[in-house]
Amino acid sequence: MTYQPLVKSVVLSTQTKSNDTELVQLIVTLQDATQLRLIRGDGIKSITRLLTNPCPICRKDFYCKCFDRFVEEIDGQVEEKDWK
Ligand SMILES: [Zn+2]
Repeated sequence: MTYQPLVKSVVLSTQTKSNDTELVQLIVTLQDATQLRLIRGDGIKSITRLLTNPCPICRKDFYCKCFDRFVEEIDGQVEEKDWK
């Protein structure tokens, strides 16, 4: 079974600017209630699962790397207009 993340809502967590670099942290909630922190910056994209719910992929309730491979997919579902 292939896991398919589906973004339900996005909240802007922090937005910092230094020189020309802008770093944005977004809290992304998926349809299955998984919450993730998405960091977008100068050429950076990273994703970390918040520990509010067990991982829907491996079922661990602590840190895992399952969502690393979904960075592009989830990022692609997050439209800037949705969180500004
Ligand atoms: Zn996992």
